[in-house]
Amino acid sequence: EDPRSLVKRPPVVTILGHVDHGKTTLLDAIRHSNVASGEAGGITQHIGAYQVEHHNQLITFLDTPGHAAFTAMRARGAQGADIVVLVVAANDGVMPQTREAIAHAKAARVPIIVALNKVDRPDSNPDFVKRQLAENGLVPDEWDGDTMIVPVSAKQKMGIEDLLEAILLVSDSMDIRANPNGKVLGTVIEAQVEKAKGVIATLLVQNGSLEMGDIIVAGTSMGRIRAMFDYRNRKLRKAGPSMPVLVMGLSDVPAAGDIFQVYKNDREARAVVEERKTQAQNRQAAVPKATLEQLFERYQAGETRELCLLLKADVQGSLEPIVSELKDLNKSEIKVTILQAEAGNVSENDVMLAAASKAIVLGFNVTADTAARRLAEAEGVSIRLYDIIYRLTEDIEKALKGMLE
Ligand code: GDP
Ligand code: MG
Repeated sequence: EDPRSLVKRPPVVTILGHVDHGKTTLLDAIRHSNVASGEAGGITQHIGAYQVEHHNQLITFLDTPGHAAFTAMRARGAQGADIVVLVVAANDGVMPQTREAIAHAKAARVPIIVALNKVDRPDSNPDFVKRQLAENGLVPDEWDGDTMIVPVSAKQKMGIEDLLEAILLVSDSMDIRANPNGKVLGTVIEAQVEKAKGVIATLLVQNGSLEMGDIIVAGTSMGRIRAMFDYRNRKLRKAGPSMPVLVMGLSDVPAAGDIFQVYKNDREARAVVEERKTQAQNRQAAVPKATLEQLFERYQAGETRELCLLLKADVQGSLEPIVSELKDLNKSEIKVTILQAEAGNVSENDVMLAAASKAIVLGFNVTADTAARRLAEAEGVSIRLYDIIYRLTEDIEKALKGMLE
């Protein structure tokens, strides 16, 4: 895109956090305090995203809390959101999924704003949680760090304005732009098939303007847009960057995270779909593996100087020595990045994160369940399990040396 045609667009925000810390309640509180209820325009349908207005500026919220959607988007190469709001309950503090969310956001290089939720509770302990956050790399700005931590009560709808303010502050410091007249593309937020209506998809327009009658391809699904609604269920003819819309007209159900694009005509669209279907078949025939050997090849081809690792171990206590040994290896020319070090077996979520970041999963005294193995197979992620620490570090050391030879 010509930089001169880029104009400011609303930031896209996703909400992550540990279960029960208040993601859904917060999304509801934001929606109700700031979305003017519009008249329904012929369809009453849940749409997986909404926008709110604060000081005359729009903010787009993805209404699907949870890491799955966010990571699925990243695994397919889409930037899921501009900003992550991390919900942390002030009475419960940093929990496993909080750390996982931090790892996801960091890997995606998306800035994090912390919504310190449930501050209404008598057992809330904000200072304790701030210390925990600092230990996890999110140092509060009041302690000279660069993470904004906003106390809120989603339940009592307190602090919501402050949170919106913080989002606009962070987004103003970024360069969030798109060309409303450029190539039309975006991401599928969610989609399903409905009786009588056919496929209904929530799309996030990220560049250009999507119009009624446009022919789009999303993944291996295609079709002409025959109805389009905004998040207030109002009929729309045109939607610009950062606008979430609900559309009808696709042939099949695309996957969340699929990228969509507009094509000139049916023939072009069909050719793209056919090619993708063939590619998918070929991929299944030869699943590429993100093995150490393959990373070595990528290194030789000058494609990477980084070895991303995701570490799982039986107990917290065995993580520390492994991490510190791996960090020692970091003196080499290749950067060793540990995306996440957690106690527990290798899960589907771990594999998703690894796939999105082209990382290798290392396990010490743990197993990988069937679902995780299956996903690893499909996404071409390598899982290496060890029961002796030095074997693990030795392998990585060898790989690093190999890479440098
Ligand atoms: P999620 O799993 O992160 O989506 O969490 P939910 O939004 O479902 O909230 C989990 C529980 O915490 C529910 O019982 C909510 O009513 C409660 N909750 C959420 N926010 C607050 C809050 O600000 N204060 C209090 N006291 N409870 C809250
Ligand atoms: Mg929820």
